[in-house]
Amino acid sequence: MNVDTGINFGSSTEAVFDPYRARQDFPVLDQTVHGKPLAYLDNAATTHKPQAVIDATTKYYAQDNSNVHRGLHTLSERATRDYEGARDKLQKFFNASSRQEVLYTKGTTDGINLVAQCYVRPRVGPGDEIIITHMEHHSNIVPWHMVCEQTGATLKVVPINDAGELDLDAYLDMLGPKTRFVSVVYLSNSLGTINPVRDIIDAAHAQGVPVLLDGAQASSRIAVDVQALGCDFYAMSGHKVYGPTGVGMLYGREALLDDMVPYQGGGDMIRTVSLNKTTYNDLPYKFEAGTPNIAGAIALGIALDYLSGHGVEAIDEHERQLLDYATDAVAEVKGLKVIGTAEHKAGVLSFVLEGAHAHDVGTILDTQGVAIRAGHHCTMPLMERFGVAATARASFGLYNTREDVVQFITGLHKTIELFGD
Ligand code: PMP
Repeated sequence: MNVDTGINFGSSTEAVFDPYRARQDFPVLDQTVHGKPLAYLDNAATTHKPQAVIDATTKYYAQDNSNVHRGLHTLSERATRDYEGARDKLQKFFNASSRQEVLYTKGTTDGINLVAQCYVRPRVGPGDEIIITHMEHHSNIVPWHMVCEQTGATLKVVPINDAGELDLDAYLDMLGPKTRFVSVVYLSNSLGTINPVRDIIDAAHAQGVPVLLDGAQASSRIAVDVQALGCDFYAMSGHKVYGPTGVGMLYGREALLDDMVPYQGGGDMIRTVSLNKTTYNDLPYKFEAGTPNIAGAIALGIALDYLSGHGVEAIDEHERQLLDYATDAVAEVKGLKVIGTAEHKAGVLSFVLEGAHAHDVGTILDTQGVAIRAGHHCTMPLMERFGVAATARASFGLYNTREDVVQFITGLHKTIELFGD
């Protein structure tokens, strides 16, 4: 299938990435679990933090701890400089056209909810349609259920095929005069599918419909350029890009953000407050009520420096090789079925094993020092689509090596031994 995923496959990148060297930057990896070296293959849930990110967090609390924007003293000036400096890094990393378009959030979930409540909710009513896909994370389903309940709008869902690829023709048929918004995951956390987001955005824009991309899994694996993609909103989480939890970014096109009214009020988001009226601050502060996660934002900026230092394309190439290696290896494992075999995929290997529940697979692998995830991965409708209650999921990060994969496969054989034929 000839689709536009927004990725420049086979670009001129010559960078060679050395995971063995990179591992040394991650202190958490230097430990044994149940007497075995830790093979951490749960990166789709959260990634570990390099020492530089940990140091940046400590430095803020040890030396600069202070609230941002309002203080005139030295510590507050330092905190504000670093906090706003991290916003500049986010702008550059995702190529937003201005820093006004870069909002700090708690993460992907928070960003999607903000768009649902502040952009979509006031603009839809009965008869209007919002489009998502069958492979969305609950974070990109539930906020739309809420908006539909609040407004009477209808949720439409793009189907997927047995490989876990979107049915683009069905999407094009679904797009119509009633469509008001499209919200799609860029890289599926349960399948690894990379969606043809350029095609999705272009088709929506041809009808004047804005598009949000859920970039939770894509941001560490695809060099994302929001302007080149043309998306209207892009949500991501710090903890999936080797940064802290509780902080993330929502990118929004300035024209749209300008036109939106915030749904949370409080400090920092105001220009003036009298007892009976509030006027709002400029972008991006209008959407950032309350004292933010200052240390988190600063450390997120350092995580982006770390990623840029290696080059996202080089990391992606490394993870692709690991995924291919692991996919070939599991093909030899008796009774194992991979869920998610899209032509364009990255980072994630979901599977079921005949005769063993996914949770048992996860528990036995843990005894072998291998950390994977088992469950519905916050994608219950997707599990239903594949007729399974849960999958076991190995997901790769920049510090994983072939040795991790070998340990994982050895653990799978041990599981089969224990569960018998
Ligand atoms: N979307 C996808 C595709 C995800 O993988 C996740 C996290 N597993 C989320 C959204 C939600 O991210 P967060 O919990 O960081 O808000």
